[in-house]
Amino acid sequence: MSTFPITCFQERKTPFYYYDKELLERTLDAAEAAIAGKPVKMHYAIKANANPEILRVISSRGFGADCVSGNEIRTAIECGFNPRDIYYAGVGKTDEEILTGIDCGIGCFNIESLEEIDIIASLASQRDRKVTVALRVNPNIDAHTHHYITTGLKENKFGIDLTLLDEAISKVMSHRHLDLGGLHFHIGSQITTNEPFRILSRRINDIITRCRVEKGIEFRFINAGGGLGIDYENPDLNSIPDFEGYIEALTEQLSPDECKELHCELGRSLVGQCGSLISKVVLVKKGLEKSFVVLDSGMSDLLRPALYGAHHKIENISEAGQPADTVYDVVGPICESSDVFGKDELLPVTRRGDLFAIRSAGAYGEAMSSRYNMRDIPGSLLI
Ligand SMILES: *Cc1c(COP(=O)(O)O)cnc(C)c1O
Repeated sequence: MSTFPITCFQERKTPFYYYDKELLERTLDAAEAAIAGKPVKMHYAIKANANPEILRVISSRGFGADCVSGNEIRTAIECGFNPRDIYYAGVGKTDEEILTGIDCGIGCFNIESLEEIDIIASLASQRDRKVTVALRVNPNIDAHTHHYITTGLKENKFGIDLTLLDEAISKVMSHRHLDLGGLHFHIGSQITTNEPFRILSRRINDIITRCRVEKGIEFRFINAGGGLGIDYENPDLNSIPDFEGYIEALTEQLSPDECKELHCELGRSLVGQCGSLISKVVLVKKGLEKSFVVLDSGMSDLLRPALYGAHHKIENISEAGQPADTVYDVVGPICESSDVFGKDELLPVTRRGDLFAIRSAGAYGEAMSSRYNMRDIPGSLLI
């Protein structure tokens, strides 16, 4: 069990997200160490957590940013990311968002369809600017993850099918306001083995070799996306993901002559383990067959359990050290049956007013919070 600065929690309004800055820094250190001396550039996928304090810690490392909306681009710049290192992806970028990207001078637009090529070209010509683009290719790789978070398969809405790549390249090259910088891939999220990344790197190598041999095209960079998973069940044992193994899987098949610069855009693995949702027990309800711990946080604060059936480790941090010998369902207060954090959780005897930590909540936690049931958005505390 990890130790929480519980005295700092006592007077605060719950629920709130607590971020362990020291763990965040050590995680970023490990990610940096994994790419040291390699032609790899690390980007952070802002959608995982756009808390400004977190963004400032990450931008101060010189990481790039992967954005998926105009507001993310603006926030990234406000929080210290260099516009040249901001890459913008998304299947449905609006004209307004594309113009935001052009006007801010971002480094690259990741194009997800043939249709989008003409749209970006016409807006770039309207501004009389030449913009760098990358084509997001759907490599048709099964990342063996939840069907809501796999993105690299054929029937998926993301990316351009491999069979349309040649047409897409010709189309980009026909526009004088577009500069083809590279290719972009992203096969899914919460990937917990390195095999899919190994398959991806072989696929990338095949594609770029073919483009060079058949078309004489040399890409300046290849963006391999994100997707490295974290250990939700053992956050203390595995607090820092294996960035080294991941980078090795991605690069061992890539010929450095073919791929001059590799970009990764990790979200979850950089910020997931440093965050916990801290919440208070409203009451313990004795049912006929079960006892329920009812928290003051619910799916409006942390959506992943309700959305993906995800499970986060749950700790009663007020009773830390007491034997975990009592079974409870841990639920939120929201009027939905899916508002459940855990069923049959083994916990110490729990009382009204105890503080709970829902672990590994630094990614897709605060960022997905909503005002459903007109609840307040959770606060945050970075120590
Ligand atoms: C969501 C996303 C990422 C980050 O995914 P993680 O699983 O959090 O690492 C990277 N690139 C793109 C294009 C994404 O949509």
